Amino acid sequence: MPDDLPARREVTDAMRPEPPLGMLLELTHRCPLQCPYCSNPLALERASDELPTEAWQDVLDQAARLGVLQVHFSGGEPMARRDLVPLVRHAAGLGLYTNLITSAVLLDAPALAALSDAGLDHVQISFQDVDEAGADRIGNYAGGHAKKLAAARLVRESGLALTLNFVVHRHNIARVPQMIALGEALGAGRIEIANVQYYGWGLRNRAALLPTRAELDAATEAVFAGRERLAGRMVIDYVIPDYYAIEPKGCMGGWGRRFLNVSPAGRVLPCHAAETLPGFDWPSVRTTQLAEIWNRSEPFARYRGTAWMPEPCRSCDRREIDWGGCRCQAFALTGDAGRTDPACALSPDHAVMAEAAREAEAPPPPFVYRRIGSNL
Ligand code: SF4
Ligand code: SF4
Repeated sequence: MPDDLPARREVTDAMRPEPPLGMLLELTHRCPLQCPYCSNPLALERASDELPTEAWQDVLDQAARLGVLQVHFSGGEPMARRDLVPLVRHAAGLGLYTNLITSAVLLDAPALAALSDAGLDHVQISFQDVDEAGADRIGNYAGGHAKKLAAARLVRESGLALTLNFVVHRHNIARVPQMIALGEALGAGRIEIANVQYYGWGLRNRAALLPTRAELDAATEAVFAGRERLAGRMVIDYVIPDYYAIEPKGCMGGWGRRFLNVSPAGRVLPCHAAETLPGFDWPSVRTTQLAEIWNRSEPFARYRGTAWMPEPCRSCDRREIDWGGCRCQAFALTGDAGRTDPACALSPDHAVMAEAAREAEAPPPPFVYRRIGSNL
């Protein structure tokens, strides 16, 4: 192992964590869309590497025993899996709260009825923009926007809870007021205005996507105005890009504290971007029980809690609020996953954020669309 990789931590029984609250099942990396900000890794898994149905069902059984309460069926596009309905039924039968995170381009009336009958609780539909041409260009999928609108109306009519997710960046951030209006018109209980998070394909396309400070400030104003106007009727969640933050977000509620992620091939991670980190031998549900991975595996223990922290986090009052920020971002921007997240103004590396934000002032380069085997 090279000298600059973090040391492995010895795992003791005293370090045993609380059970995880939620689990993201990345059933597949296949997706009809090709969003240039996709949070999936650049090296996408092929269909032949995906876990089979029985293995996912076993993962759900183990998760319920471990204490998981919510499962999020995601991808890629989870509806690309033919066994989504039986998997939802299996999860619902275990008493788990089930959420489908989908592009919705495959979500027609029969598919929704089958999922609803299987016990699905909640649907989250991602939108690329509010206007058809812009949305279809970002997803590189003609006709996608119209299908999403139709699917959102079907979900509302079915009575299932609906969240709309708008991923914003320099090509659509000016239309945040129209995004809020679309959420209202579709009767969503919640919308998320989520700036791109710069991991995976988003990091690869950062120069094409990062908005300017002025664009972000206008969007923030629109969100605050929307929240005031729609208070009590629609919740508006808002995520800003870390590049303009002075405090980092409490990524995943802390490494290995609240959440786990299972990749299409069965690797278990503390977050969906963690496979970008070098020096980890990620455990797999193909060989190891989920409880063993959560409670006793070294990768989950490595950045759990506060003992691993360097200064300035080690002596900071916020260390059990944001847990030192995001390990994947620390690695992406400093080459060392064990450093304070550069999004924090107290980080010795904070200047790299401002430097990167200057990209937003230059004309955007073309998108590198997400696809398996893309020429990176
Ligand atoms: S971000 Fe776009 S490409 Fe990635 S999984 Fe979602 S819809 Fe598909
Ligand atoms: S110094 Fe560390 S713990 Fe304190 S705010 Fe910054 S990232 Fe969070």
